[in-house]
Amino acid sequence: MPMAEPLIVVVDPVVTCDVCPHPWQEHDRLGVRYCTATVAAALARRCICS
Ligand SMILES: [Zn+2]
Ligand SMILES: [Zn+2]
Repeated sequence: MPMAEPLIVVVDPVVTCDVCPHPWQEHDRLGVRYCTATVAAALARRCICS
């Protein structure tokens, strides 16, 4: 009996923000813009997530 292909489906893995400890999913639109700008400018500032 041949080995079956593992049917592992990765469902929406949590992607953590590069500049704050929050998953991107928890960012609102302003937070996404803020953290994206922080990444782009390599700033060391706190996020505005609440
Ligand atoms: Zn963030
Ligand atoms: Zn955050």
